[in-house]
Amino acid sequence: MSETIFTRIIKGQIPSHRVYEDEKVFAFLDIAPLSPGHTLVVPKEPAATLDVLSEESAAAVGRVLPRIARAVMAATGTRDYNVLQNNGAAAHQAVPHVHFHVIPRPDDARGLGVGWPSGRLEADAGKRMAAAVVAELAKG
Ligand code: AMP
Repeated sequence: MSETIFTRIIKGQIPSHRVYEDEKVFAFLDIAPLSPGHTLVVPKEPAATLDVLSEESAAAVGRVLPRIARAVMAATGTRDYNVLQNNGAAAHQAVPHVHFHVIPRPDDARGLGVGWPSGRLEADAGKRMAAAVVAELAKG
């Protein structure tokens, strides 16, 4: 797979406003923020989507996300925020390198606007779906 822009940012080949780095994780400000402080938290491992990310990198990102979220909210004086993680073009993923958006929601006008076309989970369909997912998880 060819290198994404995020790999080049992690390597320092493209400038970024870095806010955090450790052995497995890199975080920097989004260049087109939905609100002030919009931050991207990226595993250094160049996995395209979350489902193919190693457990080690996933754990490293998960460990640091709360601390980065606290720092972004404190720096922006914001209390509410969204964490967004897109996978695949149809799900609005533009850069095929796993990343978590931390997006402050200071007010109704700034931050992530979410469309939420909810349905209704019927009992039988829920039973079948849960069983199908459990069966997949059992495969390891
Ligand atoms: P996604 O749609 O989830 O793939 O989000 C990709 C994000 O990467 C977008 O919010 C872009 O604004 C952001 N982005 C793309 N290029 C850069 C860059 N050079 N520096 C910082 N953020 C970037």
